[in-house]
Amino acid sequence: MSNWVRVYTADNPPEAVFVRGLLEAEGIPVRLKSMELWTAAVEIYFAEGARPSVWVPNSALGQAERVLAQRDRRGIGQAWSCRCGESLEAQFTVCWQCGRPRPDHD
Ligand SMILES: [Zn+2]
Repeated sequence: MSNWVRVYTADNPPEAVFVRGLLEAEGIPVRLKSMELWTAAVEIYFAEGARPSVWVPNSALGQAERVLAQRDRRGIGQAWSCRCGESLEAQFTVCWQCGRPRPDHD
């Protein structure tokens, strides 16, 4: 029986499912925990410890961490500069100064 370790805690079930998909695409076995709480009662959303978590076998931990690190690099988290000269944090998709959308870097 493998030892399972948590590699990721998601903010919501769709995010947990998304992360599971990333890991499974690399051939890593994945289990999600706490998901059943979400279907049981929406108000548990606000409860401590109810966020869904993503678990992998201990033997696959290193590989899983690499997959997640790659996700972080290409996902949200990059601050950007608008052509008007405004600097914006990663969570903004539109410049609040001039209204231009965030340019695609890929
Ligand atoms: Zn701008």
